[in-house]
Amino acid sequence: MKDGHGRTIDYLRISLTDRCNLRCIYCMPAEGVKLMSHDEILRIEEIARIARVATRIGIRSVRLTGGEPLVRLGVTDLVRDLANMPGIENISMTTNGVLLPRMADGLKEAGLSRVNISLDTLDPEQFTKITRLGSIQTTLDGIDAALEAGFNPVKINSVVVRQLNQDYLGFAKLSIDQPLHVRFIEYMPVGESEGIDGHGWGPEDVVPSEELLDIINERAKAEGLAPLEPIGGDDAPLGWGPARYFAFPGAKGTVGFISPLSRHFCGDCNRLRLTADGKLRPCLFSDREIDVRTALREGGDEAVYECFLEALDMKPDEHHDRVGTERRMSQIGG
Ligand code: SAM
Ligand code: SF4
Repeated sequence: MKDGHGRTIDYLRISLTDRCNLRCIYCMPAEGVKLMSHDEILRIEEIARIARVATRIGIRSVRLTGGEPLVRLGVTDLVRDLANMPGIENISMTTNGVLLPRMADGLKEAGLSRVNISLDTLDPEQFTKITRLGSIQTTLDGIDAALEAGFNPVKINSVVVRQLNQDYLGFAKLSIDQPLHVRFIEYMPVGESEGIDGHGWGPEDVVPSEELLDIINERAKAEGLAPLEPIGGDDAPLGWGPARYFAFPGAKGTVGFISPLSRHFCGDCNRLRLTADGKLRPCLFSDREIDVRTALREGGDEAVYECFLEALDMKPDEHHDRVGTERRMSQIGG
């Protein structure tokens, strides 16, 4: 179905929980967020029911996220339900990877199509500094587990923040010998995080994708590597997101750039978001939400369908460079 601005909406991001086993500095406060009560959170069966109604407005692709989706009990059962749901063609997940070594095979068998694993640095010390609780090896083991379980594509999401001075070329090179699709994401002003050094998000923290591509190519040249070449069409890794893809000649994987700030892609936006507490959010950057949980519990499927129609109608044309949202990324579902 089309929204009020003529865009086809076929993608729903579902946050399964606001909890997480890490505390990334740009996403969560050190002490974690104030947890929602059991009753506030949608039950797994409720999420499946809402997804079924969503297929009636043309949702074909679902991404499970959070918080950390793998800490939510029943996640594998939900994947199985979604995989058997007429109308749903694609189920993906964004995860920090920590629990993949023990869960990847079961998720694959249940019908999960693909995974994105978040990894912002290749430096073990910096990893622990960014995630506050994590050790890099757990996430690297998660990436191996995803590849061994046969997920394809496996994408690595890396949020780029200027002060972190990440090893961009090192990341890009991960795509050479393994079928990994590295995606650099511009740091976005979502929620009121302390930011990297306690001052919150600022435009100076963002490394625009164009600049990043130049830096990677310069560093590649210094190492005697050929530059990244643009790819598209059938060669781009399966995806519904607005990334631009490149690859090193002969590489097994690709390098993508997601540029929500330097290159507005609102005109191609195809998504709605469902928060863990059952709010339908037409735009990541807008705090306007629709209470689909109450609609479901008090009205049933038809009331939920009405919520989806309202969300399509409410979806703004673009995010108008808004800075900050009331809820943090971990609460909205990044
Ligand atoms: N816990 C899972 C994970 O980390 O992949 C899923 C939820 S997390 C909120 C989803 C993605 O949002 C992660 O890749 C994370 O790095 C990204 N993210 C969080 N805050 C962000 C921000 N301010 N700007 C850009 N990406 C952000
Ligand atoms: Fe947790 Fe993901 Fe947020 Fe990190 S980015 S704190 S792993 S939800």
